[in-house]
Amino acid sequence: MKINQNYLDLKESYLFSLVAKKVREYKEQHPEREIIRLGIGDVTLPLVPVVVEAMQRAVLEMGVRETFRGYGEEQGYAFLRQAVCGYYAQKGVQLSDSEVFISDGAKSDLGNILDIFSTDNTVLIPDPVYPVYVDTNIMAGRKIIYVNGTAENGFLPLPDETIKPDIIYLCSPNNPTGAVYNSAQLESWVAYALEHEAVILFDSAYEAFVQDQSLPTSIYQIPGAKECAIEFCSLSKTAGFTGVRCGYTVVPHELVRNQTAINKLWLRRQTTKFNGVSYIVQRGAEAVFSAEGLKQIRANIAYYLENARLIAETLKDLGFWVVGGENSPYIWLKCPDGMNSWQFFDYLLAKAGIVGTPGAGFGANGEGFFRLSAFGDRNDVLEALARLRSL
Ligand code: PLP
Repeated sequence: MKINQNYLDLKESYLFSLVAKKVREYKEQHPEREIIRLGIGDVTLPLVPVVVEAMQRAVLEMGVRETFRGYGEEQGYAFLRQAVCGYYAQKGVQLSDSEVFISDGAKSDLGNILDIFSTDNTVLIPDPVYPVYVDTNIMAGRKIIYVNGTAENGFLPLPDETIKPDIIYLCSPNNPTGAVYNSAQLESWVAYALEHEAVILFDSAYEAFVQDQSLPTSIYQIPGAKECAIEFCSLSKTAGFTGVRCGYTVVPHELVRNQTAINKLWLRRQTTKFNGVSYIVQRGAEAVFSAEGLKQIRANIAYYLENARLIAETLKDLGFWVVGGENSPYIWLKCPDGMNSWQFFDYLLAKAGIVGTPGAGFGANGEGFFRLSAFGDRNDVLEALARLRSL
């Protein structure tokens, strides 16, 4: 018996455990001080009423012989896949429901998709970024090349012609930086992927936060993307499903590599290793895409975006270098006075009782930067900003 040795190459993920440890220690030393958490990447508002009602109805159906359901289709119920197609149609993207795969969240599929690609492939990953892309490829022993997100390129790296990748990760709006690619920038990535016959894995988990109508919310709004991209999305941040668990992955029929339709491979993978998402959850997800559902979730998103705006404006006022926070729940700032990410973490905690996330936890280029999140309560955000101003 041999273990997968690649797992031993994974770096210890100490980011959130170290944050928790430092906060615990601070609390022990300052029990009277109220700590404000602007580091969390989890939502705080409850599910919207239409989602709750749809799931309640589904629970009742499951308790009646005539409407009880056992195993569903592995790729998701047609009613939800069609609802996702309807949502894309509103973005001007035409999909067939056989191109949509329902998942229990984007994280699972971002990792699972790698099953269908050879471990020989070279992977291109922007840095800093959501750490799951890096770790899932280390687990498989793939060669990883990084493209640098920097203050100079607004944390939106563009294709590097000296690299010939097979798999390209893009995350827009980005976690952790909140930066969003515009159409011209995504066009250059699509052209690059087509040139190298690479596949783009496009993570649009935060697409619902994009307010600027000129910015793309799906890679398929870019001509040619259906021939080179798979898109991963989630209801986690869109509709507060972090605990409910539902997402979707789009694999267009036009995406063909080695004379093989990727959609067919993914369907084969899913029908073998996955037994679908709960009926109750899928009914809740369907309700998100109804006219009333979209109205209700957009009100929650507007609340988070107002938090983001308040944070970003205050930071800019105070002279910080900032990206994100306009079309994203994340605000990415440069640590002041040459501090590194953890020094600024310690400083903010000690002087203001505010907890954020050190940028260094998202890749080498995150060092010297810091992520604040807008998913908290408005009063906490206002209190945190008052404390920042008085620092
Ligand atoms: N992609 C990005 C960029 C994320 O930040 C997250 C969660 O934080 C996910 C995917 C995973 O989301 P899910 O809850 O759908 O698994």
